Amino acid sequence: MLRLPADFTSPVLEHAPQSWTRVESVEVGFVEVCGPHTTGVVIRERFDTAPSPDSDAQRSGRTGSELKDAAIANEVPFIKDLETDRLPLLTGEPEHDGRYAETALARAVSLPLTADMLEDNQRRERLVREAIRVQVNAAKTFPPYFAFKSLDDQWLTVNLLCIDTARLLAPLTAMSAWISVPLSALRDGTLLTAIPLYARRLARGAEIVITVGEFNHKLGLDDIAAYFDVLAACVDHGLRPLPDRIDELSVPAAALFAVGSILGTSRYRTAGDPYVFKTEKRRTPLVKYHVARQGLKLRVVLARKRRGRKSIPPCADRDCAALKPGNANPHRTLRLHNAHDVRNEIARARALGARAYVNGLQNNRYAFLRKIGQAIVVANARREAA
Ligand SMILES: [Zn+2]
Repeated sequence: MLRLPADFTSPVLEHAPQSWTRVESVEVGFVEVCGPHTTGVVIRERFDTAPSPDSDAQRSGRTGSELKDAAIANEVPFIKDLETDRLPLLTGEPEHDGRYAETALARAVSLPLTADMLEDNQRRERLVREAIRVQVNAAKTFPPYFAFKSLDDQWLTVNLLCIDTARLLAPLTAMSAWISVPLSALRDGTLLTAIPLYARRLARGAEIVITVGEFNHKLGLDDIAAYFDVLAACVDHGLRPLPDRIDELSVPAAALFAVGSILGTSRYRTAGDPYVFKTEKRRTPLVKYHVARQGLKLRVVLARKRRGRKSIPPCADRDCAALKPGNANPHRTLRLHNAHDVRNEIARARALGARAYVNGLQNNRYAFLRKIGQAIVVANARREAA
């Protein structure tokens, strides 16, 4: 069996891992109490936008900035997902565009938006200024970002120009970057080849969020190895990668190749195709109890049974209320558990050391964890060979 080299190290592992939790529009109560359970929260730009005039939300006195206000009041670090990769999909028709068109960023451009428009310095500056403004108080600052399919995609050029403009406009701000690509760009090597282009534009040590549409742990070994390749390439080029919404791959990624992970909510644990425009469903999803070590998501009743049989490990958080009987707010405590469970599992994996952790994956009783272990070894071998 293949093994990681004994001296496997990565500069990203020198800092405590980050574990960010995405929040839904209605989760003010979660933000108020999540501080001890997560590094911070990710707020979509749409969820930090004033309600439209004469809407029910406005009449009920909502300001639209409740999530951000709760984060600031409770000293919970937050980052904004600007969601600017949605802007080129907007038509300018309110019935189609919904809340996306009401954000400050959509208002800073003309719709429908084209890459040509943002190659124009003045128009781009207007959008970048607005992006910097809406991220005041955020833990990281990102320039606007757009999905791209290939290296000659004009939107890739726009992304790089946006980084340059943001660094010029905010020279004292540590500028991060955000990449959004479809799965095809991971598979055909576009994403891997684009990493040095980003590294040239950013300061050494800059963080880079990686969002790959439709990427998940059920894909084949090649796709997962390609994803880890990308994370390792970021590190090789002096960047610090932060994977976004990779579900069960969050722990292995953050244990070996990345500074941490951004976790999706139950319904959006993986990212959708960036070229497909969807408005949100409002239905509150059933939140399950996650066991990050085994990649399980169980209904509470089943999780209690399995815990009773000791077939799932106890939560490392002693005060965890998620499986306690008579729990008054199961939704909230499950969300908190799912946040701290991944965070704790990343810490456990790192403490084991790379070799022991990967051996544990390769010899796991669960096939998909064995596949992840193999993908790590493949990615690492490619990196050694390069
Ligand atoms: Zn827990």
